Amino acid sequence: MTRATGECACGKVKLEVDVPVFWAWHDHSEKTRRAQGCAYATYVGVWKSKLRVVKGAKSIAAHEDKKHKTVRSFCGICGTPLMYERGHSPKMINLPRALFSGRVGREPRYHLAVDAAPEWAYRMEPLVPLKGYPGVMWDRRKRKPKDEALEDFLTRSP
Ligand SMILES: [Zn+2]
Repeated sequence: MTRATGECACGKVKLEVDVPVFWAWHDHSEKTRRAQGCAYATYVGVWKSKLRVVKGAKSIAAHEDKKHKTVRSFCGICGTPLMYERGHSPKMINLPRALFSGRVGREPRYHLAVDAAPEWAYRMEPLVPLKGYPGVMWDRRKRKPKDEALEDFLTRSP
């Protein structure tokens, strides 16, 4: 059986999953955005029985949301999000795809809650290099006047 290993930013916690993972997706929901601290998060879903904490189990901290029956675990040392468990799916566990540097056997081809994506999220606008700052790209399109931008928003198909 093939395995993929993942770890938090400080390396204290290491996880291992059997691959291929069950599925993978991009989650644009507000809860995920706040919990992960980014525009959207990419997750892999695995059977709990296919996940092993191989190092640093004692360093894992968790926050349980009893109202929504969810548990979010993270490295208690560096804060890296590690696991997301949902009460209505007790045999599955979601892991940030970014924990794994290698392949996990599934491409994230699904997008959840796209309608919740913030207006500041990057949407593949054309980018050009920022002069004087190697490695920095920017969107230099001219901004539309407010009325025109509002009209675009209101007439945009969902
Ligand atoms: Zn850590």
